[in-house]
Amino acid sequence: MKKKSSETPAPAAGLFGDLPAPAAPAKRSGLLAFSYSKMSLYEECPLKYKFKYIDKIKEEPKYYFAFGKSVHTALEFMYAVKAPPFPTVDEVCEAFRQDWNLKSYLEKGYRTEQRADDDYKKGVAMLRAYYEHNRVRLAPPFLLEYSTDVETDGLLVRIIADKIEYLGGGQVLITDYKTGKDVKRQPSQLYMYQKIAELDPRLKEKIAETYGQKVSNVRISKMLYYHVPTNKEYFFERADDREIGGFWERVLGVADSIRGLKFDPTPGEMQCSWCDYKKLCPNFSGGHKVLQPQAGPADPVEVLVDRYGRLKERMDELQVQLDAVAEDLGRAAKDGGEYAGSQYTAQVKKNSKWEFKNREAVIGVLNQFELYQKALTLTLTGIIGVLESEALPEEARKKLLEQAVKKTGYEIKVAKKEGLI
Ligand code: SF4
Repeated sequence: MKKKSSETPAPAAGLFGDLPAPAAPAKRSGLLAFSYSKMSLYEECPLKYKFKYIDKIKEEPKYYFAFGKSVHTALEFMYAVKAPPFPTVDEVCEAFRQDWNLKSYLEKGYRTEQRADDDYKKGVAMLRAYYEHNRVRLAPPFLLEYSTDVETDGLLVRIIADKIEYLGGGQVLITDYKTGKDVKRQPSQLYMYQKIAELDPRLKEKIAETYGQKVSNVRISKMLYYHVPTNKEYFFERADDREIGGFWERVLGVADSIRGLKFDPTPGEMQCSWCDYKKLCPNFSGGHKVLQPQAGPADPVEVLVDRYGRLKERMDELQVQLDAVAEDLGRAAKDGGEYAGSQYTAQVKKNSKWEFKNREAVIGVLNQFELYQKALTLTLTGIIGVLESEALPEEARKKLLEQAVKKTGYEIKVAKKEGLI
């Protein structure tokens, strides 16, 4: 499991606070690489976000991240078995020791060796207590350190879940291990898990691979913050649509501000005291040269206009894809009928329709034969009404048909297969 905050949590340390974040902008074109930790950092101070993710200026190593990482690595080692027996507590502590020794105390961010040694002992004691507390209920989890990037609303959102347990019927429980202070936890980090995990197609595939169950949806039934130093468990029930909707508006607002290059500093005692960028920050010692011209605060209408535009663009792109697939499906279905995929059924009906490309020429024909009034309106239906009328002189029909092209269309009705969960 990846490193997490320990001891004094830095303001930016969140669920994925110290994990290597995806580069911005995302490699997949047009998408903004996003995560909960990025959002937290931006909300803490947009300029700090810019230094870290846009300018890619490295921060100093933080000892609390190093500590959290080694504890997570040991827990990952402990659970990484397909079936019991689990490693012994000594083996778990050895995994902790090995990870701990990968870096010197300075590389981990400690000022003194003594302080690092104290934390090492604290880590061993913590793992022993964890092991004892959980010994009787050890069970191999469904997934450990599950990392996924999901594309939604113009974002490529990354989540990394410490542990996922499968409860059957597409339901999962996600656990996030905390090694820092036992502070009151906000559920918003878990909203991100819920939103993204439920959109993630790979999770469904993994359930099918591991448990042989085909599920149409994955549902996060519960989420858990497990505070390792105290063995306290904080369960959160599944968030409802209103909560997720409100949270997602917040995500999209932050994403829009990042895209709009709004990186004004928002100094404050908490965020500035832990900030490695003070030397570059105009609030401390200048550093004007690193700043871009700043736009004013985000105007809500401006943000909504941009969101609307982006969603419309995506909808148009999807419509083009949908039309192309409908065309392919229609052709493959030949004379139409009912067909089944693994998750959906489709009723395909073939129909023919006329298209009139040259509107002026059609008007000319209608005028020439005094049919304009009969068309009632110059819509496709109106013109076809004239064309199909028995009273239409043959010469007029011939001229109208010269302007017409008969196209094959497809009417497709899809439904999800019954019995899929
Ligand atoms: S010092 Fe404070 S205001 Fe400046 S970038 Fe850091 S957090 Fe932001």
